[in-house]
Amino acid sequence: MSHTVIIGNGISGVTAARHIRKRSDDRITIISAETDHFFSRTALMYIYMGHMTYENTKPFEDHFWSKNRIDLMREYVSTIDYAKKTLQFSSGGTLAYDKLILAVGSKPNKFGWPGQDLDGVQGLYSYQDLELLEKNTHGPLVKDPAKKKVKRAVLVGGGLIGVEFAEMLLTRGIEVTFLVREDRFWGNVLPKEEGELVARHMIEHHVDLRLNTELAEVIPDENGRAKAIKTKDGETIECQLVGLTAGVSPNVAFLKGGELEIDRGILVDEYLKTNIPDVYAIGDCAQMRNPSKGRRPLEQVWYTGRMMGETVGATLTGTPTPYKPGYWFNSAKFFDIEYQTYGTVPARDLDGLSEFYWEHPDGKICIKIVFETATRRFHGINTFGIRMLHERFDKWLNEERSVDHIMEYLADANFDPEFYRTHEKAVVNKFNAEQGTAIVPKKRSWKRIFSKA
Ligand SMILES: Cc1cc2nc3c(=O)[nH]c(=O)nc-3n(C[C@H](O)[C@H](O)[C@H](O)COP(=O)(O)OP(=O)(O)OC[C@H]3O[C@@H](n4cnc5c(N)ncnc54)[C@H](O)[C@@H]3O)c2cc1C
Repeated sequence: MSHTVIIGNGISGVTAARHIRKRSDDRITIISAETDHFFSRTALMYIYMGHMTYENTKPFEDHFWSKNRIDLMREYVSTIDYAKKTLQFSSGGTLAYDKLILAVGSKPNKFGWPGQDLDGVQGLYSYQDLELLEKNTHGPLVKDPAKKKVKRAVLVGGGLIGVEFAEMLLTRGIEVTFLVREDRFWGNVLPKEEGELVARHMIEHHVDLRLNTELAEVIPDENGRAKAIKTKDGETIECQLVGLTAGVSPNVAFLKGGELEIDRGILVDEYLKTNIPDVYAIGDCAQMRNPSKGRRPLEQVWYTGRMMGETVGATLTGTPTPYKPGYWFNSAKFFDIEYQTYGTVPARDLDGLSEFYWEHPDGKICIKIVFETATRRFHGINTFGIRMLHERFDKWLNEERSVDHIMEYLADANFDPEFYRTHEKAVVNKFNAEQGTAIVPKKRSWKRIFSKA
C-alpha cells in the first residue's frame, strides 16, 4: 500500500488528506510540530478574546482521524532525504514515504530590526504564539492600570493580522500604537479610499495609528526585555510588548540548501509538483511557477490552501488535476467591518482600468468596482460592511459582463437584506451621475440567482 506523508496539519495538509482518503485506501500520515489536531488558524484571535476555546476551533472531532485511518504524528521534521524517501525528525526518529506533500505554512516576517528577538517581541501565527501572548500579556483583563503587565503594545506592519492583533489587545485594555510604513493602511492590497476607511475605523477604536512610520529598533530593559521602540524619525515610544505583523513568508528555511527548488516559496508546477519526483507543495508555502491569470505566485490565504489541498488530493489518487483556482476572492474582518473582494482590484496602478467608488455617509460601508476603461468589462469589486454572494461575482467575471450589467443586477449579488433595502439605489444613482449612464437597477430575482444560465 502506498504511503502518503503530509508535513503540516493546517488547512492545506488536512484538506489533501481528507480528499486522498475519500478516493483511496492509501496509508496517510500527517505530521505537525504545532498541535496534535487541526485547528482553525483564523480563529486564534477568538480564543484570546474569550469567544471560543481551543477545542471550539477544531473543525473535526478528535476521533475523526482514527476513524478515517489518517495517522497523526506530533514531530518536527528536521531534514528530508529525497533519494531514500525518508524524513528525519528532530527527536531522532525517521519515517519513509512514497509520496510527500509539503504543507508547511508560513512564519511572521522579521526584517533584521535590532531587538527583534528580545523577550516581549513576538509575531502572531502559531498556537505557540498565542500561548506566548497569554504569557506576555499576563492573562485576563486587569482593570487597575498599575497592575497591568502591558500598558502599551506597539504593532509593526499594517495588514490583516495586525488589525486582529490590535483588536485582541484592546479587549484586554492594552493601548495599541500601530506603525505602518506606507502612507495608508495595508497599502499594497487596499486602494486609497478603502485604506482610509479602515484607518478611520481603527482610530475610532482608539488605535494610535502612525502612517509613514517605520521601526528603527526595539530597546531592551536591563533584563533583556522590550521596554520601548524607536522609530526611524527618532521618536521613542514606551511599550511592554512589540507585535511583529509585517506580513508572513513561506516557512521554508529548514528545506533550503538541498535539491528542492525554492524561490520565496517552494516552486511548483500546475499540478503542484515540485522539481523532485513524488514531492508536492501546497498552501502558504507553495509558489506557483506560472500562476493563472489574475492570481499571484504566492497566496497565503485560507481558501487557496483549501483549493490546493483538494487539487493535490485528486492528482495523487489517479486523476491528475491542474490547479485552476478561478478568479481571486477573499474575505476578512476589520474589527466589526466585513471585507470581501472578488476579481482584481489593484491597490495602486489602474493602468487601463477605471474605478467607481461609493461610500455610505456613515463612513463604514463602501463599494469599489474596477472595470476596463476601453471595454467597460467588469474586473473586480471590494466591499466593506456589505455582504455579497461570491458565486454571483464569479459568474459575472466568467461571463465577462460589463460594469453596467453589474450595476443593473447588483441586487442579485446582495447577501445582506439591509443593503438591498437601503443602499443599492444610492450606489446606482452615484454611478449614473458619474458615468453619464441611465441604469435602472433590477429588483432581486431568486429565479435569476439560482439559474445556471
Ligand atoms: C491570525 C491569523 C489570521 C488569519 N486570518 C485569515 C483570514 O481572515 N482569511 C484568510 O484567508 N487567511 C487568514 N489567515 C491565513 C491563513 O490562516 C493561512 O493562509 C492558512 O492557515 C495556511 O494554511 P497552510 O495549511 O498552508 O499552513 P499552516 O496553517 O501554517 O500549517 C502548516 C503547519 O505545518 C507545520 N510545520 C511546518 N514545518 C514543519 C516541520 N518541519 N515539521 C513538522 N511540522 C511543520 C506548522 O507547525 C503548521 O502547523 C490568517 C492567519 C493568521 C495567523
